[in-house]
Amino acid sequence: MTPRAGRLLIGAVVAALAIAALRLPAPRVGKPGELLDATVVRRWSRADTLGRGETMTTLLQRRGFDPLDAADILEATPLDSRRLRAGMAIEVRGDSAGSAGDEVRFFLGLDRVVVVRRDESGGWRATDERLPWTTDTVLIRGTVQSTLYAAIDEGGAEWLSGTARRELAWTMADIYEYRVDMSRDLQRGDRLRVVVERESLPTGASRIGRVLAAGLELGGREVQAIRLEGETGRARFYDQEGRSLAATFLRAPLSFRRMSSGFGGRRHPVLGTWRAHKGLDYSAAAGTPVRTIGDGTVTFAGRRGGFGNLVEIRHLNGYVTRYAHLRGFGPAIRSGARVAIGQTIGYVGSTGLSTGPHLHFEVLVRGAHRNPRTALQSAAGPALRGAELDRFGAIRRVAQQALAGPSGLVRAAVAN
Ligand SMILES: [Zn+2]
Repeated sequence: MTPRAGRLLIGAVVAALAIAALRLPAPRVGKPGELLDATVVRRWSRADTLGRGETMTTLLQRRGFDPLDAADILEATPLDSRRLRAGMAIEVRGDSAGSAGDEVRFFLGLDRVVVVRRDESGGWRATDERLPWTTDTVLIRGTVQSTLYAAIDEGGAEWLSGTARRELAWTMADIYEYRVDMSRDLQRGDRLRVVVERESLPTGASRIGRVLAAGLELGGREVQAIRLEGETGRARFYDQEGRSLAATFLRAPLSFRRMSSGFGGRRHPVLGTWRAHKGLDYSAAAGTPVRTIGDGTVTFAGRRGGFGNLVEIRHLNGYVTRYAHLRGFGPAIRSGARVAIGQTIGYVGSTGLSTGPHLHFEVLVRGAHRNPRTALQSAAGPALRGAELDRFGAIRRVAQQALAGPSGLVRAAVAN
């Protein structure tokens, strides 16, 4: 979740709490002869957020506390001042008997509230309250009209919050990153389904937990991704044949997660075609990390003519990849350096012959340029065998049953 989205969510939670607190009890009706208590105490509540460059002391004073109380409240609060960010939400509560509040709530996260209350002696005491997350499992279905993000956003609207849907799109792209370049390979009409854990708070906020199974149908052929947890608790995804989704090469030099965080998830303009200039262009914000699509050795890192800042990497089996127009290089990227698949080797820029920030990406096989879209379709990863395959078979059966069901709550226990 982005910090901005987090702040919005926290803001919404605070607003909801404030509305709830303002709902006043119905007026009491006395029996004949009974004297009504003239001093019915009414609770009030005010939400506020920390302004940019503002200190918590100033905020508390703005909310009616005198400097001494503000200092006492902060002293009682286990807040790390370095963790305070502009936009952080607080709520002040009080009653009609006093002018300033007698309770301050600091919202440190979706599920964590530090509540500071004035006690009998006039001092302040803090309690750290955690809201309980509950977990269930949902099936989300989507059909691609434009992007992966839009498909999940639409298909999951009834079941997941907006931030949870975006996170799910990024997670799907991560799971399939060896098989599918989500920014290029999806076609209108491609379908997806995903069984995912949903974690919810009593406030209505939700986030995603583990993805348990997924299916992505590209041009009528579905590749499933079924989660299998090893004995160490480490999870891997296998297709319906029991072959690892991990392979020799990633399908794209930019992570969908990093690309679309700069572009809001819309489809990226393609700047050129492969035939025109023997490379693929990815439009992305300047500074987006560029990753090597496979293990290898850097054979060039520096300035080279129209390429601008260029990294060239040699992989196994005569494969060479080039990443051009970089703004700069990743840590320790120089000629001779060993790099591991997914490692950041540079950052998107516009150096050399370039009209705007983009990555120019080339694949050569034994000296000849090849279209990355086909050249990187590496063979599937290692297949499961023996007892592992048997265990996988049982998990696959449950996962496929869940994938076949209607959208919404999944009642079977799919996790392994
Ligand atoms: Zn290019």
